[in-house]
Amino acid sequence: MSTTTPATPAPAMVDIRSVHKSFGPLDVLKGIDLEVRAGEVTVVLGPSGSGKSTLLRTINHLEKVDQGTISVDGRLVGYRRSGDKLYELPEREILKQRTRIGFVFQNFNLFPHLTVLDNLVEAPVSVLKRPRKAAVESARRLLGRVGLADKADAYPGQLSGGQQQRVAIARALALEPALLLFDEPTSALDPELVGEVLDVIRDLAHQGTTMIVVTHEIGFAREVADTVVFMDDGRIVEQGTPGEVLDRPRHERTRAFLSKVL
Ligand code: ADP
Ligand code: MG
Repeated sequence: MSTTTPATPAPAMVDIRSVHKSFGPLDVLKGIDLEVRAGEVTVVLGPSGSGKSTLLRTINHLEKVDQGTISVDGRLVGYRRSGDKLYELPEREILKQRTRIGFVFQNFNLFPHLTVLDNLVEAPVSVLKRPRKAAVESARRLLGRVGLADKADAYPGQLSGGQQQRVAIARALALEPALLLFDEPTSALDPELVGEVLDVIRDLAHQGTTMIVVTHEIGFAREVADTVVFMDDGRIVEQGTPGEVLDRPRHERTRAFLSKVL
């Protein structure tokens, strides 16, 4: 650490500004501001219905925001700016942007009719137009990385939930995303399978992958998060280091939530 010059902060990989989102009369996101720096892990906690999934979905434009902007890797998500006006990008451009943002869902969402290998090869070939041979090589390497090299020819239905989720993570990585989003990646798993999935996510964190992880796994948050964000009722109530938010929460709502999940 230099004592004379302040360290240059890493650029924000994700920059969320004043994001509002409603579904009809229901205000779900009520002004979210959040920055995630390259290489950092942000864990989002909060009660059911607080808007966590909606927030993740706005980041790759699966939901359109009503107000505010989101940038990922320096690029506005879903829009281009012209003067002070924003124009929504054509679907083709949005799909391309999405390949930069991996999304891992609670229920894996693998293609059931494709083998494990083809689940990983499909998007690189069809969206990024990679040669199939290179995509297959890269897919095999990724399956090795999540400990499933021997399952390349299996179908998702033949795997345990933990294995399916590891395939889903490998599939997200196959697009070499700048950012990975996880929406309760272990919530649908039997307790004995949670650890193997968290191990994979922990490895990714140690390798410097930028991630936003919605989870109720407090132990994981404490160990892996650079920043913990607590959301309630469409707002970020509190954010800070794991020590600040988990051990010394300043807000009553954070304390009440933690007392229920710890
Ligand atoms: P969380 O992930 O924190 O449980 P969500 O973001 O899923 O919360 O949901 C926040 C609120 O928005 C909930 O009240 C939910 O019912 C509502 N909601 C989410 N998606 C939709 C939708 N597509 N249409 C209408 N209401 C929705
Ligand atoms: Mg959710």
